[in-house]
Amino acid sequence: MKERILGVRERIDAAVKRSGRTEGSVLLVAISKTFPAEAVVEAARAGLSTFGENRVQEAAAKIPRVAELLASARMPPPTWHLVGHLQSNKARQAVALFDLVHSVDSAGLAAKLEVAAASCGKRLPVLIQVNVSGEGSKSGVEPGSLRALVDAVATCSHLELRGLMTIPPYDPDPERSRPHFAALRELGERVRGWLGPGADAGELSMGMTEDFEIAVEEGATIVRVGRALFGERAA
Ligand SMILES: *Cc1c(COP(=O)(O)O)cnc(C)c1O
Repeated sequence: MKERILGVRERIDAAVKRSGRTEGSVLLVAISKTFPAEAVVEAARAGLSTFGENRVQEAAAKIPRVAELLASARMPPPTWHLVGHLQSNKARQAVALFDLVHSVDSAGLAAKLEVAAASCGKRLPVLIQVNVSGEGSKSGVEPGSLRALVDAVATCSHLELRGLMTIPPYDPDPERSRPHFAALRELGERVRGWLGPGADAGELSMGMTEDFEIAVEEGATIVRVGRALFGERAA
């Protein structure tokens, strides 16, 4: 696990250098879906501190278990990100479990998260998921509807819009993801223009095991890596 983490970190750092970006400007989120709490604890002991899950139900069992195991080793709980599609009826649970939600893709979901966050007395950082290609992934707002969704999230006083997220359509050639990543970066610049100076909405969550280096070259500030850290998932 230590070697895998080091390997991924080195590849991120190399891509940061190649693109002339500031060192340490990319957050590595370890996607632990399908892997047990014990694997998360091993990764935490090896130095990772941010984990991502794509299903609320799986996370609801894993997150408290990880906290318990780490507490008995006198280690603090990690930070948890929700990276998968969120159904409105799970908004309350998601707010209770996660520190950042990557997948806000409708005003209806934002409204549900706002109510849930208000009732927990919590401010929830969120990203808006964009379907930059208009095909492939079913989740994400269309670029043409992004402005309306940004405005809707901005009216939610318990949500903090931190940036954008995308999942490009699957392609065996990772270079084919590059234009989608560049498109998300351009949309991110527009969002910052709309919100004006002072808004802290510059995060770009993009890149997975197959294409995270390309995503970093195109400006990713958050990469979501599963298999390169934990190994292949059972089918
Ligand atoms: C599974 C998943 C990842 C990680 O994928 P790997 O190919 O294992 O790196 C990243 N983002 C989302 C939204 C995922 O569901």
